[in-house]
Amino acid sequence: MTTNPSQPGDVALFAEQDEGALARVTLELISKARELADRLKVRVTAYLVGGEGIAQQVAELYANGVDKVYLAEDRRLRHYETRPYEKLVAKMVRQDQPQIVIFGATPIGRDIAPRIASTLRTGLTADCTSLEIGEHTIKGVTYSDILMQIRPAWGGNTIATIVSPQHRPQMATVRAGVMKLTTPDHSRTGELVRVPSDLTPEDFIQTVIERVSSVKKVDLTAASIIVSGGAGVGSKANFKLITELAEALGGSPGASRAAVDFGYADRDYQVGQTGTTVRPKLYIACGISGAIQHRAGMCESAKIVAINTDASAPILSIAHYAIVGDLTQVIPRLIKAYRTMK
Ligand code: FAD
Repeated sequence: MTTNPSQPGDVALFAEQDEGALARVTLELISKARELADRLKVRVTAYLVGGEGIAQQVAELYANGVDKVYLAEDRRLRHYETRPYEKLVAKMVRQDQPQIVIFGATPIGRDIAPRIASTLRTGLTADCTSLEIGEHTIKGVTYSDILMQIRPAWGGNTIATIVSPQHRPQMATVRAGVMKLTTPDHSRTGELVRVPSDLTPEDFIQTVIERVSSVKKVDLTAASIIVSGGAGVGSKANFKLITELAEALGGSPGASRAAVDFGYADRDYQVGQTGTTVRPKLYIACGISGAIQHRAGMCESAKIVAINTDASAPILSIAHYAIVGDLTQVIPRLIKAYRTMK
C-alpha cells in the first residue's frame, strides 16, 4: 500500500537573525527549502521574529527564494529569548500548517527547535548534513514524498537516514555551512502575514542586561581557499607553514581535531564533524589522514589537494590531487612556486 500523509503544507524555515540582520545559515536554509519545495510543488515559508525594524529583512527573504513570510515584530524581541521566540514561532507553525520545518543547527536553532517539536508533539532530527525527499516502507506501507533527514551517527562512523512518516510537521536542524547559497533575485516578492506579538510580561522570565559576544577568530564557511594542517604538521612552529601557504593563496588556515588537540591551532579553525563544515573552492589537507569525522566537514569542497607522506592515507581516496611527500619540504616549494608564478 502506498500512502502520502503529507497534507499539501509548505516547506518552512526559522529565519534566524542577529541584531536585525539575517544569519548566513538562514540563507542556506532558504536554498535547501526551495529545492525541497520545488520537488514537492509547494511554497517556501519563513518565520521571522525580531525587534523593531526586523520587517526590513522581509524583502531579503523574498529575494533569496521565500514565497511567504510570517512576521512578528516587537521591540522586546531584539535579542533572542527562548520563551517568547518559542511561543511566537510555535504559533506561526500552527497557523501555517507546514509539512516540513527546518532550523539552523546553531546555538539558537538548537535551543528553539526541540521546544517547538515538543510543543507540537512531533519528532526532530538534529544536525542534519543533507535533506532529501524520498519514500520509505514500514510494515508493508510505503510513505511517499517524505523528508529524508540525513546525518552522521555513531561517532561519525555511519550516515543515518531518519524519517518521521506519521507526524507533521517533519522537523530538522541543519548544520551551518553545509547547504549551498543561491544568488538572490531582488525582483522577487511574496506574501506577508503579520502575527501580533501577544506576549505577556510573564513570557519574559529573564532580562537581558548586557550582551557580550565573543567574536570567532575566523569564519571558515566564508573562505574560498582553506589550507588545513593535521597531526602530521608535527609542531606548533611548523603550523606557521600552513598559515604561510594560506596567506600566499589568499585563503584561510584550518586544522584537524588532532592538530587542535595538540595545540597547533585554535579550536575555531577545526574542520569536521565537531568543527566547522566547509565547502571551499580549494581545500589543501596537509598531514591529515582523512578520518571520516574530518571528511564529513570538507568532502564537499570543489577541489581537494592532499599532502601526505603515506600514499595509502584515506584522504588520498577523496583528493583530486595528491602529493606524497613530507609537508615541511613540499609546502615551502609550493609557496615559492606560487610566488614566482604570480
Ligand atoms: P592523524 O590521523 O594522526 O594523521 C596524521 C597524518 O599525517 C597521517 O596520515 C600521516 O601519514 C601524515 N603525516 C605525518 N607526518 C607527515 C609529514 N611530515 N608530512 C606529510 N604528512 C605527514 N577530527 C577532525 O579533524 N574534525 C572533527 O570535527 C572531528 N570530530 C570528531 C568527532 C568524534 C565524535 C570523534 C570520535 C572523532 C572526531 N575527530 C575529528 C577525530 C578524528 O577521528 C581523527 O582522530 C582526526 O581527524 C585525526 O587527525 P589527523 O588526520 O590530523 O591526524
